[in-house]
Amino acid sequence: MKSIDRRDFLKTAATSLAAVAACGFIAAPANAQEKLSVNDPTAKALNYTEDASKVDAAKAPTYKKGSHCATCALYQAAAAKGDYAPCGAFGGKLVAAKGWCAAYAPKA
Ligand code: SF4
Repeated sequence: MKSIDRRDFLKTAATSLAAVAACGFIAAPANAQEKLSVNDPTAKALNYTEDASKVDAAKAPTYKKGSHCATCALYQAAAAKGDYAPCGAFGGKLVAAKGWCAAYAPKA
């Protein structure tokens, strides 16, 4: 597995944030309670998947093995519907507990 240095991480983070801004990532939760599609343009830009164990590390260099939506600070577990819960990064759309995207931020 390729390791990344701080510069690469910051570059990737900056690219992700640019994609977020371009896609209206921080939009109001107009589509809250709707499952996030992996084909959603923002989801694609952030390499969202419903199964973190299938993340291609070559395409998602910030992915760390074991990270997944349920351990992300943006996953709103208190409002979960089964194995899905709203994600603050996707306007409240439901993401899979076992999912992952490049905006992953570990809970403190
Ligand atoms: S921001 Fe966090 S909870 Fe939302 S899709 Fe990405 S990894 Fe999952």
